[in-house]
Amino acid sequence: METDKDKIMCAFKPYEQFCKAMLDAFVVIDTNGKIMKSNPAAALLTGVSSKHLLKVSSVDEVLTMSVAGQTLSSRELLKNIGPTRIDDITATTGQSSELNLTIGYFPFVVDGAIIGAFVLIRDVTAETQLQGKYKDKASKSITDSLTGLFNRAHFEDFMRNEEPRIASLPVGSDHRNLSVIMGDIDHFKKINDKYGHPAGDYVIKMVAQIFQKTFRRTDIVCRYGGEEFLVILPASDAKGSVVAADKVRDAIEKFKFEFEGITIPVTMSLGVAQMIVGQELGKDTISRADAALYQSKHNGRNQVSMHTGAAIINHKQVAA
Ligand code: GH3
Ligand code: MG
Ligand code: MG
Repeated sequence: METDKDKIMCAFKPYEQFCKAMLDAFVVIDTNGKIMKSNPAAALLTGVSSKHLLKVSSVDEVLTMSVAGQTLSSRELLKNIGPTRIDDITATTGQSSELNLTIGYFPFVVDGAIIGAFVLIRDVTAETQLQGKYKDKASKSITDSLTGLFNRAHFEDFMRNEEPRIASLPVGSDHRNLSVIMGDIDHFKKINDKYGHPAGDYVIKMVAQIFQKTFRRTDIVCRYGGEEFLVILPASDAKGSVVAADKVRDAIEKFKFEFEGITIPVTMSLGVAQMIVGQELGKDTISRADAALYQSKHNGRNQVSMHTGAAIINHKQVAA
């Protein structure tokens, strides 16, 4: 008779070899949250030996997680019927103070029922603290007064610090990735001319809010110039950043900008580039994102382009 444990092991089998090479922690759990399998990174993260992890009654015993103040138990997690990514998790273990985590959840489904799940646990504490260090300094010198976003000086300072830090990380680690997105509101001069300067200011403010809502807490959103916005996406490759850039483009296109009863149509063109770590400076990455943005303008605006290092391609080509 095949037990649930057998079924879970059978579902996990195809991934087993591949998971050995993984740098992040993972656990395989049953429907009670009991750990069936883990890797050395999970032992390191929880401070509990791999052998002991298999003995605890639930992963919740060794890792207490919450999102926006709400507890995230394994029971809650197992309610997701499809693969799910959860960001901005705070967690505690027996040995550590607060950790910041991102989780990838993948349920094993047999005959329509969830029998367990694979849970990837990424420790993003270092990045989050670094971001927090900068974000805490909410002084005038680093924020833009109209939007409350970081200003260009802060952005450049941040980039200078990031260059050596990520270059020192192991090759192949996702944390070694860093991408930038540059966005510029389309035909903004016309918006000022047609609706007036205060309406233009209102548009910039709302666009800033859309950016803040769309991007992750670990991303850094800046007002780079008049109606230019720049985002740094730590631990993100260009492909993923193109998806994020298109999300914000779409959100701006769909948002109803209404100033003193008048609706103002607004679109944005964007360019994306991933830092070629160790081979270029942050300012070079920004120049390439800017070149990609220029291409988006040239190709008809309201679109995303990506600089690959060798060429500039439209976001639909990236997706293909
Ligand atoms: P394109 O689609 O090519 O970007 O066209 P554009 O009209 O947006 O061109 P450009 O980027 O050169 O123009 C930006 C304009 O934004 C010029 C400036 O008058 C205006 N602007 C810059 N800062 C502010 C601001 O803080 N408030 C307002 N209302 N307008 C600003
Ligand atoms: Mg501009
Ligand atoms: Mg513009």
